[in-house]
Amino acid sequence: MQRISHIYINGEFVTPHGEEWFDLYNPATEETIGQVRLADVTDTQRAIAAAKAAFPAFSRTTRSERLAMLKNMRQALAAREADLLEAIILEYGAPAARSGWMAAWPAAVIDQTIATLEAYPFEQQVGLARVIMTPLGVAGLITPWNSDAGFICSKLATALAAGCTAVIKPSEMSALQTQIVTEALHEAGLPPGVFNIVTGRGDVVGETLSHHPDIAKISFTGSTAVGKAILRNGAETFKRITLELGGKSPTLILDDADLAEAAPLAIQAGFINSGQACIAGSRIFIPASRKAECEQALASAVNGTVSGNPRASETEIGPMVSQKQWDRVQRYIRVGIEEGARLLAGGEGRPEGIDRGWNVRPTLFTDVNNSMTIAREEIFGPVLSLITYRDEAEAIALANETDYGLSALVLGADRERATRVARQIESGRVLINTLIHEPKAPFGGFKHSGLGREMGRWGLDAFLEPKSLIIN
Ligand code: NAD
Repeated sequence: MQRISHIYINGEFVTPHGEEWFDLYNPATEETIGQVRLADVTDTQRAIAAAKAAFPAFSRTTRSERLAMLKNMRQALAAREADLLEAIILEYGAPAARSGWMAAWPAAVIDQTIATLEAYPFEQQVGLARVIMTPLGVAGLITPWNSDAGFICSKLATALAAGCTAVIKPSEMSALQTQIVTEALHEAGLPPGVFNIVTGRGDVVGETLSHHPDIAKISFTGSTAVGKAILRNGAETFKRITLELGGKSPTLILDDADLAEAAPLAIQAGFINSGQACIAGSRIFIPASRKAECEQALASAVNGTVSGNPRASETEIGPMVSQKQWDRVQRYIRVGIEEGARLLAGGEGRPEGIDRGWNVRPTLFTDVNNSMTIAREEIFGPVLSLITYRDEAEAIALANETDYGLSALVLGADRERATRVARQIESGRVLINTLIHEPKAPFGGFKHSGLGREMGRWGLDAFLEPKSLIIN
């Protein structure tokens, strides 16, 4: 049992004023593995005050001073990669053999930020004007449970690269990895107050950040519902707001696709992070002319996916993160059946041979249409829907008929045709015959999947305000 009893304010580990404790579980065993003491409104206000006091000096640091700080952070985080992986397996139930990227992400994303900062044009001449990019002020960084260490480091590195100071509100469900990240960042030796980490409840710490007049910027990753609340709360003080929200990402299997290659890619895209990913390709569009063949190839790929103990090397899908999430996924499977979708693989209950742990059966529905709940709402679990289309134009129209627009995948033999289809998908990112991520490219959503972009120079722009000096 670990008891995490400190938050991080002004360069020090301090006991929170808040007295509430939150239980941490191992999703693979359903056992309590620890407790974290939660920050309250007073703690949040202290953290904001520390970040505000640190801002004037930090905003005047040079690019090379900030690069040196980022390099220290990177080194300290890389040294904790093995500890991070252990925490991720323990508190998320993430499959060990497939989750190394999550533990490596904090250092990798800082590397990327270093490259962006090295090349970023903070000043440029535009006609008569000298355009200067100035840091916004104190940033509130709010992250979701599904890959906290990576999101914390990605947002923090970008905020610091811009010269902003920060108050970070991680998910309380990721307290073990937050603790490791905080220790590593502390070792990096940044000036006190430049970053502060207050683990607490969203409706307490998160709400305080999104209303507070001394917070100039909110960068939020999480659900669309909370994103909307943050946007409303921030309007009063005109906060600059970046939102990375939910998804219902389409995978389009074109009629010339080689199914031996396309089916495993489609399933991998749907089952990333056990289906608990904003980018999960949960709607798969298949051509009517090859319906039976597609159903067979995709069902066989789903049936071959192992859902089990995260520590077993063959496990591809681990448990859902919580009992609540397990219940939610079961409910969606029931609703899918009630609304007339047909099960091709999986279904309700636990996988065979598993009686403990929040594992669900990898599930594939067919005969789904866009009016069904399972095609419209984010399930956040390994439940995929097949939707049939007649021709390319209908495939594109159906794929776009959603409130979301975060990521998409197009699979087809003719690359030019697949690219033409990709250009018509309303989505912040479209992958064509690959699942590779390009961290230098902007990442974010169309429509209800978000506002603004993270990563690369677009990410840095979002923490800066342009100012034009016109000199006589
Ligand atoms: P969530 O929205 O419930 O919580 C996200 C964070 O917001 C948590 O730290 C939470 O405590 C906090 N929060 C909750 N209520 C708040 C409030 N009223 N004010 C301010 N903060 C509040 O999401 P989650 O369950 O942690 O994560 C899953 C969601 O995140 C999914 O919808 C997923 O698609 C989305 N997500 C999006 C991306 C992306 O890049 N677009 C990446 C990962 C996850």
